[in-house]
Amino acid sequence: MLETCDSPGLLPIKSAISNMLDLIIPVMESEQIELEDALGRVLAEDVISSINVPPNDNSAMDGYAMRCEDLTDTNQLQLVGTALAGKPFKEKVLAGECIRIMTGAVIPQGTDSVVMQENTEVKDNSVIFKQIPELGNSVRKAGEDIQQGQVVVTKGTKLTPAYIALIASVGIAEISVIRLIKVGIIATGDELTPPGKPLIDGAIYESNRFALSAMLNSFPVTLFDFGIVKDNKIDLNAVFAQAGSLCDLVLSCGGVSVGDADYVKEILDNLGAINFWKVAIKPGKPFAFGQIGNAWFCGLPGNPVSSYVTFEQLVTPLLQKLSGQTYLPKPHFVAKAACVIRKRPGRADYQRGIFYRDDQGELWVKPNGKQGSGIMSSIANANCYMVLEQDAEDVQVGESVNIQPF
Ligand code: AMP
Ligand code: MG
Repeated sequence: MLETCDSPGLLPIKSAISNMLDLIIPVMESEQIELEDALGRVLAEDVISSINVPPNDNSAMDGYAMRCEDLTDTNQLQLVGTALAGKPFKEKVLAGECIRIMTGAVIPQGTDSVVMQENTEVKDNSVIFKQIPELGNSVRKAGEDIQQGQVVVTKGTKLTPAYIALIASVGIAEISVIRLIKVGIIATGDELTPPGKPLIDGAIYESNRFALSAMLNSFPVTLFDFGIVKDNKIDLNAVFAQAGSLCDLVLSCGGVSVGDADYVKEILDNLGAINFWKVAIKPGKPFAFGQIGNAWFCGLPGNPVSSYVTFEQLVTPLLQKLSGQTYLPKPHFVAKAACVIRKRPGRADYQRGIFYRDDQGELWVKPNGKQGSGIMSSIANANCYMVLEQDAEDVQVGESVNIQPF
């Protein structure tokens, strides 16, 4: 029987992902680093706070601190001192007294509430309160953000700027993170020319490695770029073997299909093992997963859109697991199809789309131009994937479409 593009026996995308995740054991080796260098790294241990944040009750406003109870019978209190952030008022405030206080200053002993200065008037040595506050007004309580002994950020978290600020706020300057994952990338093809060089007849510029290394930039990895390798078994064998001995994960693109110059599968059979090499995904059916030497291996298709999409949909979960990260599936939203979306059953389709909101607040989506696997502009100008399930057929105008914003 002739094998069509959507031939039966392709591994559904969910099975491909679970097959990879079941096999992969996260890297456990960790290293101590400075907090300054922590962006994008994965925490190897829970971060626990040894202090309350904020450490003391403090003022949320510039104004006057007093004991709320003192304003029951009068609206005028005697001004006896000042508290600034970092310069607390050290004495005890007595009944009938108040303190000038600035944002962030510790609430002086004997006071319990703050009235902002806009609601007061200063007269000689006393303050007239035009607002009668509730107990605790404009006071930020000690430990209201983080309590002593609390886990601030859990192991397996990939550190964002906000997590880094949170860790700094509990006074920690060094943290333990999973070591960087060593990822090798290899482009294969006789026709591939590095950008910047003249293009000879029949050649094209190599672009997949640029996309892959740019995408890998947001992962906690060290990149090993093996460049472009010609379609001959001797060169391919040598480079794949070297990559397999150096890296934790090797990504190649091209040569993984069934053409006459597609040697990747054969080389993997020699140097390692292939677990699967056909996934029910479009674009990107020829996607191989296996091992070379000590490294995991993903053979991405050569077509630029296919290699991009399979990296995002299949390599990303693998990299998250390998780097010790807690698995976070990408968020999906539902939009309505603004036009007919063509879809043949057989493979899950990740068409590139543009979603937008109309004046009524309704979410719509439409394909972003031509969807061929060589048409890189379909990704560059799009803002989402339209995720069409494996068995789905054409989507009619107004029907629901799952979208995955970029
Ligand atoms: P292959 O999977 O090797 O048969 O390649 C499929 C298509 O993708 C061919 O048109 C190749 O020229 C193209 N291609 C393969 N690798 C790359 C690459 N690294 N950059 C750009 N195009 C590529
Ligand atoms: Mg090729």
